[in-house]
Parts: sequence; C-alpha cells; structure tokens
Amino acid sequence: MSYSYDDNNIFAKILRGEIPNDTVAESEHSLAFRDISPKAPTHVLVIPKGKYVSFDDFAANASDAEITDFMRLCAKVAKAEGVALDEGNGFRAITNAGNDGVQEVPHFHLHILGGRNIGPMLLMRE
Ligand code: 5GP
Repeated sequence: MSYSYDDNNIFAKILRGEIPNDTVAESEHSLAFRDISPKAPTHVLVIPKGKYVSFDDFAANASDAEITDFMRLCAKVAKAEGVALDEGNGFRAITNAGNDGVQEVPHFHLHILGGRNIGPMLLMRE
C-alpha cells in the first residue's frame, strides 16, 4: 500500500474546518468526533491531526509525541463516554486499513464503539 496522502479526504476537510463535526475531545495532535453514521450508542472516531493514511503509516512514521497524544486522547474519550473499564462496561477499538481492511476514509482513524454489546469480532463473509 502506498502512503501517499489524499488532501481531499473527508477527515482532512474536517481538520481544515471545511466540514462541520461533532467534536468530543481535542488535544495538541489529535481530534475525536462522533461518527456521522453511528453503529453503537457510543461511536467516536479518533484521528491524528497529521497526514497519516492508515494505522501502519501512523505507527511507523508518527513522532513519539503524536503517538502518545493519540493514545491518551483515546483513553480520555473512553472515560468521557462512560465506557472505560474503571466505571463503564467496555468498548471495542477498531481500525480498518486499506482494501482488505475495508477502509473508507484514507486518513488514519480509530473507531471507539460501546454502550451496548458489540457482538462477535468479525462477521464472516465468503
Ligand atoms: P472506515 O470504513 O474508513 O474505517 O470508517 C469511516 C467512517 O467515517 C465510517 O464509520 C463513516 O460513517 C464515517 N464518516 C464518513 N464521512 C463522515 C463525515 O463526514 N463525518 C463524520 N463524522 N464521519 C464520517
């Protein structure tokens, strides 16, 4: 997979303020906002502000500061949404990458899903 970044992807437009979003939390290097088509009572997307296409791009190429900031914001979101394990009932964190991962938006994002039992990890398909 190529790491060439498409500046016209929808999350790039959200980061530039060209498209509105329902922000849940923000940090120096990351943004968390509600998915426009939620699949669970809590469905938040956490994205880095930097131009990273996918999880592997982010994991390989982001700075330590960006990675730490991203992970801490994920924890903050889980807690704020009441799904973190200290007080809540749990959640699932998913990231899709590339064609086989069925990634729609080519800007790295982590889905945080909770508020109900999320079901089996994968729906098997032929
Ligand atoms: P992917 O399939 O790339 O992992 O997930 C992309 C997610 O982005 C989908 O869950 C989809 O509902 C969400 N999404 C697509 N366009 C928008 C948008 O304009 N705003 C928000 N908040 N979410 C979006």
